[in-house]
Amino acid sequence: MDLESVKSEIEKVIITEEQLQTRLKEIAKQIDNDYVGKELLLIGVLKGAIMVMADLTRHMNRHVEIDWMAVSSYGSGTKSSGVVRILKDLDRDITGKNVLIIEDIVDTGLTLDWLSNNLKSRGAGSVEIMTVLRKPESAVVKVDVKYVGFDIPKDFVIGYGLDFNEKYRNLPFIAVLAKHMYE
Ligand code: IMP
Repeated sequence: MDLESVKSEIEKVIITEEQLQTRLKEIAKQIDNDYVGKELLLIGVLKGAIMVMADLTRHMNRHVEIDWMAVSSYGSGTKSSGVVRILKDLDRDITGKNVLIIEDIVDTGLTLDWLSNNLKSRGAGSVEIMTVLRKPESAVVKVDVKYVGFDIPKDFVIGYGLDFNEKYRNLPFIAVLAKHMYE
């Protein structure tokens, strides 16, 4: 979906499609270099990570396995609840695997803090995190994120997998949602 179709619903575009893809290419290269000679399992967090998983893996030049988890920390509003529930678990055992969690955004950090501890407790060989976006001002817990696409202010953003009430995931860019859409 293009900018024209949502012009009245967004405040501004903060990361363009081109900026996103350029940064993802850089990160893909970094991951390729960091995991030379090692097997790699990418775990995407549904549903927000669908776009980044599709694009990042196609920029990589190596074999990867892909699995998905769905967790919920938000409800349908714009504030984090801090309560994490598993809605869909992994298909396979991850004992000894090098795991890289693929996320759309680190906001309070509560979801990823919980998720990375959960995966470590299952006996993964290593657990690292890649996120497209991070909001440093919103951090409640400190999470070690190895690969960050962009640090952004704490406004509520949509697009490129990120939703507001399940809409806007199919925008190829990241935008700040207009306040009149939720206030
Ligand atoms: P955290 O636990 O507060 O870090 O929140 C992580 C999850 O909250 C993300 O995976 C998103 O699903 C959601 N989230 C946080 N900030 C935003 C936002 O600005 N737009 C859309 N979803 C968000």
